[in-house]
Amino acid sequence: SRKYLIAGNWKMNLNSAEGAELASQVVSMFGQQTDVSVCVCPTFTTLEAVSKVVNESNVQLGAQNMHYEASGAYTGEISAEMLRHLYCNFVILGHSERRQYFGETDETVNKKTLAALEANLKPIVCIGETLEEREAGKVSEVIKTQTEGALSGVTAAQAENLVIAYEPVWAIGTGKTATPEMAEEVHAEIRCLLAGLFDEDTAEKVRILYGGSMKPGNAAELLAQKNIDGGLIGGASLKANDFGGIVEAA
Ligand code: 13P
Repeated sequence: SRKYLIAGNWKMNLNSAEGAELASQVVSMFGQQTDVSVCVCPTFTTLEAVSKVVNESNVQLGAQNMHYEASGAYTGEISAEMLRHLYCNFVILGHSERRQYFGETDETVNKKTLAALEANLKPIVCIGETLEEREAGKVSEVIKTQTEGALSGVTAAQAENLVIAYEPVWAIGTGKTATPEMAEEVHAEIRCLLAGLFDEDTAEKVRILYGGSMKPGNAAELLAQKNIDGGLIGGASLKANDFGGIVEAA
C-alpha cells in the first residue's frame, strides 16, 4: 500500500528567515511523523536554511524546479546534484506555472525527470488540463500526452521513485477544487496509463497526488479516494495550521 505524501509547494514566497520559521513549525508538528510523508518545497534561496531545520527530522525537503544538465554554462540554472548536496529528497517538475510562464514543455519535463531519477531525486511530475481543455472534452487526451511525454525512457525500476501530481489548472489558486469524484476519475486514468507504460505492480506503487485549492476542509474527502495518495499544496502550505490540518486529514 502507498504511503500518503503531503507536499507544500511554497512557490515564490518566504525568504530564508521566513522559510526557516515555517519549517520549524512544521517540524514541531510532524518531525516524528512516520505514517504520512511530509515535505516542504521552498525557493532555491531558502532551501539551505530549511534543509538545516528539517535535518534529523522526518520532514522531507523538495525543490520547485531544476535543470537537466549536470553543470556548465547555463546561467541562472540549478542542477540535480546541487539539490542533492542540500539533502533534497524531491523536486517538483513541470508545474503548470512553469509551463505557462517559463516555456516548460513535455520535452523539457522529460529531460528533467530522467536527470532527477538518475541523481536519486524523486520527481513530482505535474500534469493537468486547463479549463478550456476540460470544457472541450480533452481531459483524457491532455493527461495521456503529458504523462507519456514526461515519462518517456523511464524504466519500471526507476518509476518506483516517481510521484505524479494531478493539478487541474483551473483549480490552482482559484478556490475551486475538483470534486473528489472528478479527481478520482482522472487519478484512475493516470494509474491505468502507468500500468501501460510500466506494469500493474509498478503502477500500484506510484503515488498520485492531487493539487489545486486543497485545504483542511476538503482534504479528507479527496484523500479518501482510492487513487489519491496525497496532496501538493500551494496557498494552504504557507500557514502551519492549514498545512497541519491537511496532514492530519491524511
Ligand atoms: P493552491 O493550493 O494554491 O491552489 O496551489 C496548488 C498548486 O499549484 C500546488 O503546486
